[in-house]
Amino acid sequence: MICRKCDALATILIRKEYWYCNTCFTTNTNHKFRACLGKSKTISSNEKVLICLSGGAESTVLLDLVHSGITLNGTKKLRIIPFFLHIIETTTEEGTKKANFTMEQCKQYNFNLYVINIEDYYSTNNNILSNPNTIPKTKSKIVNNIRLNVSPSIYHDLVIKIKRHLFLRIAKELNCKIVFTAETTTQLAKRLLSNLALGRGSQVENDIGFADQRDKSVRILRPMKDIMNEEIDYFVKVKQLSYVHDYSNTKIGLQSVINNFVVDLQDNNYPSTIFTVCKIADKIGSNENTTDVKNCTLCQSNITLQSGNLTAVEATIFSRKMCFKQADAHDKIEVTQNISEDKNPMFPSIYETLCYGCSRNYSELDICKIPH
Ligand SMILES: [Zn+2]
Ligand SMILES: [Zn+2]
Repeated sequence: MICRKCDALATILIRKEYWYCNTCFTTNTNHKFRACLGKSKTISSNEKVLICLSGGAESTVLLDLVHSGITLNGTKKLRIIPFFLHIIETTTEEGTKKANFTMEQCKQYNFNLYVINIEDYYSTNNNILSNPNTIPKTKSKIVNNIRLNVSPSIYHDLVIKIKRHLFLRIAKELNCKIVFTAETTTQLAKRLLSNLALGRGSQVENDIGFADQRDKSVRILRPMKDIMNEEIDYFVKVKQLSYVHDYSNTKIGLQSVINNFVVDLQDNNYPSTIFTVCKIADKIGSNENTTDVKNCTLCQSNITLQSGNLTAVEATIFSRKMCFKQADAHDKIEVTQNISEDKNPMFPSIYETLCYGCSRNYSELDICKIPH
């Protein structure tokens, strides 16, 4: 087979359709990354950007793409001032190991790495960063206790929200108005399906699209959103990059079922489906008006109740009522009226401080507290 860009012998087959040689494949991946950033004309020259790294394959590729971009000369140079951040997710030895590995990766490119712990979410200090290239110690184990006490589905969902919150907080501490995260097409497709299943359908635009614009001063961008995991695998192989294998995906829970489903699609007969799923998600916009809306404390999504139709929440509360006491037709009206009054133990603080998804999480979290 011959490379579709040059006449060299092809070595890589993407989506069972496109053949590339190693060189053209690497160039193409860099191009996808830059094209994605190019579309957002909002990154100004010498913009400070916080880049979030986990040490996994996707993050390893992001680090390499950023490095390639800023070491270029001339008009193609990526003109940003990068700051790198790693969040330790567990208090076990594995967490420290990952942090050390990511630090070594950054050192190879001559970059400094800030390391914080996920438990810093509960820190009341104004600044949570310590010096770069050091591993902070933490005594708190709140998030780790949550992991032990709630279902894996809820834990996965919650960790995404907590990390997002920390990205924004550190970005503000470092005066960055932009954050880069390393989600690929494949990961975003999985998140899209999880979001729909968890009742976060209205949040798809900010959770899956190129830019998360829920925060007023910092925007989270996903410049790898057009790169699939298949390409990540080839990229680390071709460039001989080492990375940490991520075992945090448990074998149980909603997200792991979705994970298997998506991986199966990609590996078997339908390699283009994931791509299509994300393209569709791209087109889903929200017609929310952004003035004078209430936002969820945990995920910053719009929680203003506008729909005149019966929602999933109301339906759930109604069927619960039906189970526990006699309900008549009037209850339906009464239930919908009471929803925003925070009287319902099933969905604590719903539409007051939390959105449906976060409220449902919170109801499982009575042993641990979410800060205000
Ligand atoms: Zn080629
Ligand atoms: Zn929320």
